[in-house]
Amino acid sequence: MNIRLFSLIVSAYNEGGNIDGFFEAASTIVRPLAEQGFRLEIVFADDGSSDKTADKIRGLFPAAACNSIDIKLVSFSRNFGKEAAMYAGLKNAAGDFCCFIDADLQQRPETALAMLEMLLLNPDYDCVAACLENRGTGVRQKLSSSFYKILSKSSGMQDVVDEASDFRVFSRAVADALLDMPEYYRFSKGLFAWVGFKTLPFPYTPDERHSGETTWTFPKLVRYGIGGILSFSTAPLQVAIWLGLFTSAAALIYFIVVICQRLFIGIEIPGYATIVALLLMLGGVQLLVLGILGEYLARIYIQGKDRPVFIVKSYSEQLAIQEDE
Ligand code: UDP
Ligand code: MG
Repeated sequence: MNIRLFSLIVSAYNEGGNIDGFFEAASTIVRPLAEQGFRLEIVFADDGSSDKTADKIRGLFPAAACNSIDIKLVSFSRNFGKEAAMYAGLKNAAGDFCCFIDADLQQRPETALAMLEMLLLNPDYDCVAACLENRGTGVRQKLSSSFYKILSKSSGMQDVVDEASDFRVFSRAVADALLDMPEYYRFSKGLFAWVGFKTLPFPYTPDERHSGETTWTFPKLVRYGIGGILSFSTAPLQVAIWLGLFTSAAALIYFIVVICQRLFIGIEIPGYATIVALLLMLGGVQLLVLGILGEYLARIYIQGKDRPVFIVKSYSEQLAIQEDE
């Protein structure tokens, strides 16, 4: 039988307390995978962790050999962010099917297996995305929902689904399409929507974090969200056109009113207050629009430098010996 490869791509930043537990959970899917004709590969991307994450991962190599798991470790020279870690992992993954998964056991390897099975049962589809079953009703969830609505509308991509997480299983075709986009500012949900392919939702509820704390603070999430909109939509640039049209129309109407008052009613209009108000408003609008232009310009500037998305400090791999070789 032609043995295929399933790659778990794990981004890890200061996850020393979770690596062993993750590997243990991943080991349990080796056998069911083998029954479906798959071998397991785990690609760890250590995103410049300052704790023992890399050592812990290297410590797994002997156990991986015993379990016939291919294991790879890409370590960054500093923290480049989760998106960069996912990209590095994907670059090094050899799987016929791949899965982006977190190291903190909020997303279970067993769920990844179930998602792979779902994908295998639906050959028309190339991707299965884990979707949060209930997002909750808090302010944060509301904001997040509105953000995805704005992103879908402004980018014209209907598929940037609110509940879908980065926890996905996808085919080699999708992996190659993602790798063909070497952009510096990466926003995976947008990239997945942009490359197309049919995606099945897989309802799931994330577990509690096994150990450590999330690094996604609210300001970091807001920056990530604004980055997503700037990467996938040029709609904010049109704000200038609409604001310009609106203020010009308002100015014209005001001008006509003032002239009529002067000519037909004979009212002298004392000017200072209105002039100050108009100046302030126009100045504000111009600064806002300049700011938006600046954001896009900065992105072109950074992308123009063509800097790498991440820098690798060290790479190690250990491929399990296959019986048929
Ligand atoms: N992560 C990363 N680089 C970072 C921040 C996070 O690789 O700069 C990893 C982290 O180790 C975890 C995953 O991304 O495996 C999700 O991070 P986290 O659990 O902090 O986010 P949350 O689950 O709260 O969305
Ligand atoms: Mg987490």
